[in-house]
Amino acid sequence: MQQAFPENFIWGAATSAHQVEGNNRANDWWQWEQNGHTEPSGRACGHYDLFREDIKLARKLDHNAHRFGLEWSRLESAPGVWVKAEWDHYKSVLQAMRDAGLRPVLTLNHFTLPLWISSEGGWLNEKTSYRFGIFCEKAVTELAEWDPLWITINEPNILAMLCYHRGIWPPCEKNIRHALEALANLLKAHVLGYEAIKSRLGDKAKVGLAKAVTAFHPCRNHSVLDRFTAHRCNKFHNHAFLRCALEGRIRLPMVKRETLPLRETLDFIGVNYYFRQFVRPGNLLKNPPSFRVCPPDRHKDAGPITDMGWEVYPPGLYEVLQSLKRYGLPLMITENGIATRDDTQRISYIRTHLKALQKALSEGVPVMGYLHWSLLDNFEWAEGFTKKFGLVEVEPESLKRIPRPSAIWMSEVIRKNCL
Ligand code: BGC
Repeated sequence: MQQAFPENFIWGAATSAHQVEGNNRANDWWQWEQNGHTEPSGRACGHYDLFREDIKLARKLDHNAHRFGLEWSRLESAPGVWVKAEWDHYKSVLQAMRDAGLRPVLTLNHFTLPLWISSEGGWLNEKTSYRFGIFCEKAVTELAEWDPLWITINEPNILAMLCYHRGIWPPCEKNIRHALEALANLLKAHVLGYEAIKSRLGDKAKVGLAKAVTAFHPCRNHSVLDRFTAHRCNKFHNHAFLRCALEGRIRLPMVKRETLPLRETLDFIGVNYYFRQFVRPGNLLKNPPSFRVCPPDRHKDAGPITDMGWEVYPPGLYEVLQSLKRYGLPLMITENGIATRDDTQRISYIRTHLKALQKALSEGVPVMGYLHWSLLDNFEWAEGFTKKFGLVEVEPESLKRIPRPSAIWMSEVIRKNCL
């Protein structure tokens, strides 16, 4: 049976500056790429020049919103030095969205940092949080006229863990204490960003963050320890950051307890959901929980595995939405997608995840919209260009955009507002 989505449901796709724009030479990722750690992002999708075409394409695919990011390193070339031409660029991007009838969803920070900030210690330096607050103040002054939905920070937990604990993203540290300190600074940055936007625009601005959430399941259902580990992972990785932002205090393991300047600094929660993880205990005495992830192919009830090695598990979207309902805030899917070269699999991924979303909606979970990751095949961080997340294929040489059948399929769903 077909089931409708709410009226005014937000539909679209998401991108981030460094992954699509190209030639973001002044940030930490570019430097890391040049040092040979991963395939260089180079001209990426050439979106910096081709944004008009991409926005028109999104509109043609019936999207009514588009998530994109600002590249801080373009906009502030040194402390307090604003680059007018670059602010003008993003004004043109926003104007193009307005002309196309797309509601902008604007991410202020999506993983990259200007080199002058990373060389000062990046997210390990508390100063970065204040600098981010100032950057947000400037962004509001320049860009509020286009009335975007504001997202302060993309996936703070992933950023902190991959950069400072797992050592796979720059600056490649393997220090859990540093990861937690970075997380605390990201929390401060979020609060300062929220304050900067709200103090200027008040209630009419809606500000949230994009939170990575995972469906944590016990590796062995019969094991109390595995169930306990899954519960602690959920508590720490899915909820701790949100709870701190709402309660207005830093309560993270290993870091000094502090009161933040504001509480309730979320008007909505952006949800980035991709997969489930089967977990079992690592060192149980550690806080945050040290856990081991059991590969999905060891579980006979696991779903298919994507090109990222992630399990396709649509009920997980329902599970995480249900568990976020407790905050009584509007939720928005700010990312959900699959790396695959089989576009039929992408259609099935979107269909089954939208079904799970509808189930949550029918049980009263307030979901405002769905933004698919991603509009375009793009630069997938440490994986370079090998992973294909796009509704639209980008030909590597010509940069030609070729909408995939999944893009057309999703546009029909949007047109009918029904699945
Ligand atoms: C990030 C994106 C990334 C996607 C797929 C999310 O964690 O926000 O930048 O491309 O996942 O890995």
